[in-house]
Amino acid sequence: MTAICLVGIGKIAVDQHVPAIGGSDDWELAATVSRAGTVDGVQSFTDFDQMLSERPNIPVISLCLPPVPRYDYAAKAIAAGRHVMLEKPPGATLAEVYALADMARAAGVSLYTTWHSRMAKGVAPAKAWLADKTVTGAHICWKEDVRRWHPGQDWVFAPGGMGVFDPGSNALSIITEILPMPIHLRSAELFFPENRDTPIAAHMQWTQNVSGDFDWRQEGPQSWDITVETTTGALSLHDGGARLLIDGNEVAAGADREYPALYDRMAELVKTNASEVDLSPMLHVADALTLGKRNVVAPFHF
Ligand code: NAP
Repeated sequence: MTAICLVGIGKIAVDQHVPAIGGSDDWELAATVSRAGTVDGVQSFTDFDQMLSERPNIPVISLCLPPVPRYDYAAKAIAAGRHVMLEKPPGATLAEVYALADMARAAGVSLYTTWHSRMAKGVAPAKAWLADKTVTGAHICWKEDVRRWHPGQDWVFAPGGMGVFDPGSNALSIITEILPMPIHLRSAELFFPENRDTPIAAHMQWTQNVSGDFDWRQEGPQSWDITVETTTGALSLHDGGARLLIDGNEVAAGADREYPALYDRMAELVKTNASEVDLSPMLHVADALTLGKRNVVAPFHF
């Protein structure tokens, strides 16, 4: 087993990373770094530099921090010769992730920009089915309750937090994976709460008749759906990609294995001394924030 250190023990580390590492034969959770969070039975540090100097025997670092503070940790980890796994979205800017990729290449370590939704059960079969099809249109409907998934997390509304594109990047990671042709943004409407710096909702229109509605104000049942029409049939992904229907017939469904699959992939990358850096989902977020029309809506309070 390979020793790994988790940094940023918050919601996603506790919900997904700790169980995924615990259930894997490849990994041993050897340390954590967090100012407040800890994991029972695991050595905990509050200072990242101290962990790097005291635990040179931990070759892999998984960063579960929000995107803005993540770069400094990743850069230090790479400089210390460690392999690095980044939560999504991989950084606060595109350029900083390109910089990390260059640093990792020069240092001979693996860098993995994870996109957990790409590991959802329906995504690979959807991609395979669409590979030889002519797509006539697609639509994303990604509507969830920010209070449920990001309770009290003001960073999502601070510059670099990306607002509704934090979960929206999950949909973008799927659409960029499954479509057999490239798309680019033609227009976007962004809805900013008057007291916040990032959008709480967005409507996007891409080329090739692809559109998307993203909203963080949906209470009750949550919507994580993508539909794609082709000249020879249609598919739909539901539950964030976990369910796939082709022409109305259920093709894939079942237990979520997204985070265990990310750690399987990281094990492969480290073994083969390779990196996987894909910024295509984040490119569409950056384009929306570049091109989008700003609309001001009601203030938001957690
Ligand atoms: P979170 O709970 O707010 O943050 C994770 C931890 O990072 C915090 O507990 C905090 O730990 C540390 N942290 C926060 N701000 C920091 C700063 N400025 N400097 C240093 N450490 C800081 O966030 P999260 O929901 O786990 O999300 C983290 C990442 O996972 C995001 O990129 C998000 O998109 C992704 N993600 C989240 C979810 C979800 O459902 N929430 C799902 C999938 C992916 P300490 O206070 O102990 O230092």
